[in-house]
Amino acid sequence: MRQARAAAVKAPKSLVRMTSIAAILLNVSRRTLIRSLLSTAPRVYSIRRYTERGIQVDSPVPGAQATLEQYTPYGPDGPPNGTKLAIFVDSALKSAVSDPRGPRRQPRGSVDKRPRLPNHAPMPTLRARFDVVVIGAGVAGLWTAARLRAQGWSVALLEARALGSGQTIASQGIIHGGVKYALTGKAGRASAMIAPMPEVWRACLENRPGCEIDLSAAKVLSEHQWIWTAGGVGARLAGAAASKVIRARAERVDADDRPAALRAAPRSVGVHRVPEPVLDPATLVEALSRHVGEHVFLIDESTLEPGIGDGGEAVIEVKDTAGAPVELRASRCVLCAGAGAEAVLARLAGRIEHQTPTMQRRPLHMLLARGDLPDLWAHCVGMSAVPRLTITSQREPDGRAVWYIGGGVAETGVERDEQAQIEAGRAALRDALPWLDTSRLEWSALRIDRAEGRTPDGSRPDEPVVGDAGAFIACWPTKLAFAPAVAREVAARLEHDNVPRRAHEGDALDALQRPGVAPLPWREAGRTWR
Ligand SMILES: Cc1cc2nc3c(=O)[nH]c(=O)nc-3n(C[C@H](O)[C@H](O)[C@H](O)COP(=O)(O)OP(=O)(O)OC[C@H]3O[C@@H](n4cnc5c(N)ncnc54)[C@H](O)[C@@H]3O)c2cc1C
Repeated sequence: MRQARAAAVKAPKSLVRMTSIAAILLNVSRRTLIRSLLSTAPRVYSIRRYTERGIQVDSPVPGAQATLEQYTPYGPDGPPNGTKLAIFVDSALKSAVSDPRGPRRQPRGSVDKRPRLPNHAPMPTLRARFDVVVIGAGVAGLWTAARLRAQGWSVALLEARALGSGQTIASQGIIHGGVKYALTGKAGRASAMIAPMPEVWRACLENRPGCEIDLSAAKVLSEHQWIWTAGGVGARLAGAAASKVIRARAERVDADDRPAALRAAPRSVGVHRVPEPVLDPATLVEALSRHVGEHVFLIDESTLEPGIGDGGEAVIEVKDTAGAPVELRASRCVLCAGAGAEAVLARLAGRIEHQTPTMQRRPLHMLLARGDLPDLWAHCVGMSAVPRLTITSQREPDGRAVWYIGGGVAETGVERDEQAQIEAGRAALRDALPWLDTSRLEWSALRIDRAEGRTPDGSRPDEPVVGDAGAFIACWPTKLAFAPAVAREVAARLEHDNVPRRAHEGDALDALQRPGVAPLPWREAGRTWR
């Protein structure tokens, strides 16, 4: 500590500049900030965001974020989220200890003057006990944590990145009622299982009496979706086969009632309105996070060690992103980590007698088109059982629309590189909406896996998958829309096993790091547009 103070005095310029900037951003006095930095430095911080102005890191002042404008050794894309930095309050303000590019080579014969973390005494392990620890704060983890809390269990929620940062923030936000699964003309099991979900969600979105959770803060982008048929005779025939289901669950609209993007379509193009709401995933995550209480922690997933205690309880040993070690014990650990569940289950496998549930990934290559476009939330139906295109849209603050495009083009596009996928997207849009000028759009692409419970043939499960392994329960909702069903199933298992409801006990965990809300894919730092 003495050394840090001395160094700070020796290098007042950089420290003063950094602290002034940070103090302005944090709205605290510079003296407070310096004192806070000195009392914590050196310390490992987790990058939250890389902007043109600098790096936003977790702040030493609780509840705020600091922007360090002087740290710019990366290219314009910045370092990936979650990269760890050690910020030294001395002449080496710019040092990084966990650089994803690996250690930089020193020229032969030169002395390595890069700063190193001094040997501090190890931080004491914080110990606490909850009824349930939920791992992963996507829609499944958030909804489950909220429901279990509401039913009286004490819950801690652990997140490795930001709230919603996996599939949830990258989802199209459609609360499916099953029409999409009935495009072959048959309403199968998947379609039947998901049919009640829009009504469950609507009750929550409107905060009706008796609803599961108040989601009135989530933004409903559209109360319904559209379906239109594109392409030649084959596609129309497929549309006709699907139309029995569509007729039962959707309403054909006249030309005047069509959405702006489909208004200029010929009359032969059938346009149907489907009562499935479309949500903004960011405000959904934010709305859900209001119900999960204060025990939500940002952890370093590489340190997570799941195990079973002597009494058969779940034991989670982990460090937060500042390196503080924590040991959590719980009657049950609910794993809602999406694709991240694979690694946790692999670590758990050798430590428990039970067979662990298994998962599968189904990759997508999603597209983003930005420009002067009307709003559209729609499936374009072709000959296949999968919509050719599924389009959802949002507005940027400058008024431009972003169309987020999935469906068949995202499934077949996993084999294409980014440039080829963008070309395929342009062609698909021209083909499906020939009456609309889509020639002056900016494009981007995004690879992401759908993480689901494993099925024998690798196809999409018809429903959520919830698997037990001793005190661990692994969940994959399969669809955003099924999140309430996952939470209900987990609560039912806890009830069935008579898991007691007790207040949490143990050390105070207030000092641990907290996650923010993940940015929407088109607002991610470093996204490139072509
Ligand atoms: C492109 C795309 C579009 C989609 N569109 C729709 C749609 O319109 N409608 C619909 O119903 N469904 C849709 N889905 C499916 C839906 O998004 C997912 O089923 C759902 O979001 C899964 O939620 P989850 O909470 O299980 O997982 P995720 O959302 O992936 O959340 C997992 C969380 O766990 C965290 N995590 C991972 N590992 C660890 C660890 N070791 N420790 C702590 N935290 C960890 C992650 O950071 C993440 O925050 C879509 C999926 C994709 C990929």
